[in-house]
Amino acid sequence: MRRSCRLPILLLACLLSPGAGAGWLHRDAAIMGTSVSVELWTDDSARGEGLADRVMAEMRRIDTLMSTWKPDSELSSVNRLAAQQPVPVSPELFRLIHRALEYSEITHGAFDITYASAGYLYDFRQGRHPSRAQLAATVPDINWHFVELDAAHSTVHFLHKGVRIDLGGIAKGYAVDRCIDLLLQAGVQDALVSAGGDSRVIGNHRDHPWNVGIRDPRNHDGLVSVVPLENAAISTSGDYERFFEENGVRYHHIIDPGTGDSARRLHSASIIAGHATDTDALSTSVFVLGVEKGLQLINSLPDTEAILVDNEGRLHYSDGLEPAKQ
Ligand code: AMP
Ligand code: MG
Repeated sequence: MRRSCRLPILLLACLLSPGAGAGWLHRDAAIMGTSVSVELWTDDSARGEGLADRVMAEMRRIDTLMSTWKPDSELSSVNRLAAQQPVPVSPELFRLIHRALEYSEITHGAFDITYASAGYLYDFRQGRHPSRAQLAATVPDINWHFVELDAAHSTVHFLHKGVRIDLGGIAKGYAVDRCIDLLLQAGVQDALVSAGGDSRVIGNHRDHPWNVGIRDPRNHDGLVSVVPLENAAISTSGDYERFFEENGVRYHHIIDPGTGDSARRLHSASIIAGHATDTDALSTSVFVLGVEKGLQLINSLPDTEAILVDNEGRLHYSDGLEPAKQ
């Protein structure tokens, strides 16, 4: 996903005299294995810089808590120990795992953080995927019902050996929401925060909506749609983000929990709603579900819309967007 209006924003920022201290502030960083950015309007550039620092610090804090790449993260210790005993976790991690399990429930398991029980065998940088035998051995370990949460003791327990969890399908959206909350509490009225394919905006970009472009999944420089957004979130899950091809088959990072193989019904799924935690979980879910079941789910949820690109490149819209597509 790309913002389509970057140039005018930058021009506007340059035209403002530095002495005025008011203008757009833009900051990028590589965090959570992806590109993170914040853009905000500030009347006081020093204060704006301080807020951008706090946004990046919050992204790093959540990454340190929830990354499966960091052996000392809280999530990594859960994966190491929770099959043996209930593991006490912070209220924050407990709440997000709980939220992820709620999404498993409403998606009938299309969203499943235990996908990682087989998912850990993929290495998209090295171009490695599990063999059939490895999938046969690990797919039975994928089942969100194996994750037992005890709210009274704030513990996570895996009821089955071999279970692993990974919050990659929801944590970036959660981090975006946390950063937006921080900016709202600081009184910011116009801002965009993004982490990879997950974005949320505050305000209406001063006098016109923020415009967020949805990438053409098979043309890096093309857009299939531009979505005007005000006080809303959008997430895109796509098979072009992390992938390799072998014998004409594309292996990518969104896994069908039923098979342990990459989901191949769609090329991309974009979801629009109020909060990025929801759009993040739902974009991953709908990517797995495909057009029919995915749109059925989205049309059943209030204030939630979808733009899908199927595996033949055709666009599909949720009911609330049908009039807009003409
Ligand atoms: P996204 O780009 O938001 O769709 O997230 C993709 C990430 O979600 C992957 O890199 C995995 O960490 C994780 N993931 C993959 N498949 C699933 C699934 N079926 N349910 C939940 N999380 C998943
Ligand atoms: Mg997601």
